[in-house]
Amino acid sequence: MPLSPRTQTPRRSGPLRGARPLRRRTAAALLASAVSVALLAASAPPTPLGLGDRLFPTLGNPGYDVAAYHLDFTYSGDNRAPLAAVTTIDAWTTADLDRINLDFAHGTVESVEVDGEPADFTGAGEDLVVTPEEPLSAGSLTRITVRHTSDPVGSDDSDGGWVRTADGLAMANQADAAHLVFPCNDHPSDKAMFTIRITAPNDYTAVANGLPAGRHRTARTTTWTYRTKHPMATELAQVSIGRSSVVRREGPGGLPVRDVVPSKDREALEPWLAKTPDQIAWMESKVGPYPFETYGVLMAQASTGFELETQTLSLFEKDIFTEPAYPKWYVESIMVHELSHQWFGDSVSPRTWSDLWLNEGHATWYETLYADETAHRPMETRMKAAYGASDTWRAAGGPPARPKAPARGQKISIFRPNVYDGASLVLYALRQEIGHRDFDRLERAWVARHRDSTASTADFVRLASEISGRDLRGFFQQWLYGAKTPPMPGHPDWKSTEPAKPATQGEQTKHTQQARQTKQAQRDRRAEPAEQGGQEKRDRPAEQEKRGTGAAEGTQSTRGKRGEEAPVMVGAAG
Ligand SMILES: [Zn+2]
Repeated sequence: MPLSPRTQTPRRSGPLRGARPLRRRTAAALLASAVSVALLAASAPPTPLGLGDRLFPTLGNPGYDVAAYHLDFTYSGDNRAPLAAVTTIDAWTTADLDRINLDFAHGTVESVEVDGEPADFTGAGEDLVVTPEEPLSAGSLTRITVRHTSDPVGSDDSDGGWVRTADGLAMANQADAAHLVFPCNDHPSDKAMFTIRITAPNDYTAVANGLPAGRHRTARTTTWTYRTKHPMATELAQVSIGRSSVVRREGPGGLPVRDVVPSKDREALEPWLAKTPDQIAWMESKVGPYPFETYGVLMAQASTGFELETQTLSLFEKDIFTEPAYPKWYVESIMVHELSHQWFGDSVSPRTWSDLWLNEGHATWYETLYADETAHRPMETRMKAAYGASDTWRAAGGPPARPKAPARGQKISIFRPNVYDGASLVLYALRQEIGHRDFDRLERAWVARHRDSTASTADFVRLASEISGRDLRGFFQQWLYGAKTPPMPGHPDWKSTEPAKPATQGEQTKHTQQARQTKQAQRDRRAEPAEQGGQEKRDRPAEQEKRGTGAAEGTQSTRGKRGEEAPVMVGAAG
């Protein structure tokens, strides 16, 4: 995803409204499973569990593997009103379980059934803890049905989950917010198939990930169904409900491309929409076939401060296409950033959130390469600027593959420069080290080998070593985990400047550039990269762009509206 300042407001979390206390379990049930006793002590109070992700320890849950989600939302037409929802989860148990923990933290649960039988449930932390009548044995397919509300209000918008737009709703769940919308195993290591059904008043259009799988219209409402053809991580789910038009066209090889835009802006936005097929063709020329059944952009009337690579339907703020401050080449490169995530991050998902650099490093890489090849923005210039800032980024956010934990109350703050341009710089160093030919082979092999799956940093190191015929573990150890940036192969003159002072995540130094870099969650970038390492603010860039003088050479930009500060970009620390 691209960059954004985030608020410091902690996510509101608390007990699940409507949760019932657990019934006392029978002795027979307690004795039913030795494994489950080890995993979840049935006699102990329900507790939040997690998969032990280094950055988000309580995300996801052990003991099962979700095969499919069926999400069913009913929208009233008021985007502040909770949606009625039914979430049905088909999961394979991987251990004997007498409780099933789901992640769910924002909504009222009305009932839970396990395999058609009513089950007890209660809230614990950000988990919904379900206790079926009979314990579940390992290796069985079980169906959990949760009737609940899905509340678009109450958690701060910047926390993710539902995004309220001018005309309805969209979704932005990365990294850990899908469970604010629906009960799930909210970790990218557990991908599953999705069927998403939305019922809305007839004057709304609903679109979700994947292809349409039916539409049923009654006198007042229409029910829209969509289904994915490939497994998807919960963080990548998308549901758009709005006064929208769906614009269809054909991509390379007959790929169905469909964009979702506000109906009133359809004509004005068409020149942007028309760019997607060529961008897909460009990506395919670099890394191989597009990995999914469809693609498109969702232009939402919302100020999220970021764009997001939701699977098959990337989320963009409509304003980045209409705001004259953003040069055309820059907006195109951001479109390619989200598109490239369909390969890097979506089809190949991170095994853990510490592998985030594999998502953002690659997306930044192709964003930069596209600007290089199509808009004469040399990659080497941007990489040199990134090299200059890299030590500062590492001090502030940790090395690319071992990012610092999110700031308190600001979980999304793992999206720092160290995983964007800092990680793209690692790929540049790798290409310098092994050469263009092997680097290109590696990129293609990576997305082919791990398609529809998850992969880790160790997998990438292994594949790079295999393809180059060299043991690259030492190289990657320094570049991915070192506190300092190693010398750049082929550019011994490049220097990384020392951090001016110790990094801080505090608010007290927020007026310094360094602190801005530290505390701002980057997410997917929305200010243009610095290219000359200069410090001047961009001045009337649209006009400069028009004159062809190469706008946006500065390291900072200001967003005109609302006096918001734009993200600090590459080279800003210099
Ligand atoms: Zn991104």
